[in-house]
Amino acid sequence: ESRQRGKLLDLHEAATVWFQEQLRSPEGAGAREYLTGRGVTPEAIAKFRIGFAPDSYTALRDRLASGVDAESLRASGLFSWKEQEDGSPGPLYSRFRKRITFPIMNESGRVIAFTARALDSATAGNEKAGPKYLNSPETPLYSKGQVLFNLDKARAAIRQLNFALLVEGQMDCISVYMTGVQNVLATSGTAFTEYQVNLLKRHCTQVAVNFDPDTAGANAAEKSIALLTEEGFTVKVITLEDGLDPDRYVRERGAAAYHTAARTAQALPDYLIERARQLFPSRSPEAKVKALNYLLPHIRRMPNLLARDEFAANAAQK
Ligand code: ATP
Ligand code: MN
Ligand code: MN
Ligand code: MN
Repeated sequence: ESRQRGKLLDLHEAATVWFQEQLRSPEGAGAREYLTGRGVTPEAIAKFRIGFAPDSYTALRDRLASGVDAESLRASGLFSWKEQEDGSPGPLYSRFRKRITFPIMNESGRVIAFTARALDSATAGNEKAGPKYLNSPETPLYSKGQVLFNLDKARAAIRQLNFALLVEGQMDCISVYMTGVQNVLATSGTAFTEYQVNLLKRHCTQVAVNFDPDTAGANAAEKSIALLTEEGFTVKVITLEDGLDPDRYVRERGAAAYHTAARTAQALPDYLIERARQLFPSRSPEAKVKALNYLLPHIRRMPNLLARDEFAANAAQK
């Protein structure tokens, strides 16, 4: 087991180095241009070990395979293969091609998986380019719901401040981190899992969530907030204006503007009451009932009785 883990960790380290080399190579020119265009600095590229998986089915395998057993290569999640007619696995080929690679590190900073972005956002999501982001599959090293992106780099600051900032995307996390906010983590698109909440609980009791101001983000925020509250976290919510996600906000408005926005984070009860008023704006008795029905589950989830009472009184008054 641990021998297998060691081999898989070595494979991921070697792949990370190779992707980094590819980004610097002539082949990586388009990827470098893409990153520059998005405002990703050389410092960020180095810090997050961002790389490039070239448009080749075989190059990574040729680079990594010597001396590594086929079983480990298949278990790594770095490759795909087709089943042969006799049921045996066909030749391995690269899972990630023509994509920017972001290594996903475990808490001790070892690379355990990758998420990789299609280069061309115009074609991202279309049949040919595949999904915008492609992740490693579940492997003996990696389970998507158990990892918080950037926990390795953010852990010390989170402990010191007793506070974590949660964003959705890797790009959001990288941009925000590079503005000097060292306690930022990304959930990587999904709503928070119970495992992730418990992982976070080992490091802090306060969080601010800054999810995308779109439907997916609002839903993820709703679920994440519920879990965090149940687990006794003090929760704040940051809402950025003009439909910008944290990455675009930093790029378009600058670091100082983002820091200001982050400081205006709302305490959870205020955020929820405001959201209830937005969802049910009418002043009719029916709308008030609906607003209260929206708020009740949130109130019930609060483990602290005093906070619960205060919230209920506040909500009733508003
Ligand atoms: P970008 O700024 O590069 O376009 P984003 O982070 O703004 O990316 P969103 O569409 O807001 O992308 O999604 C948030 C996060 O959800 C992504 O960072 C990624 O972790 C995850 N995600 C998005 N699309 C996919 C996908 N097709 N498959 C898997 N994960 C995805
Ligand atoms: Mn989004
Ligand atoms: Mn986004
Ligand atoms: Mn984005």
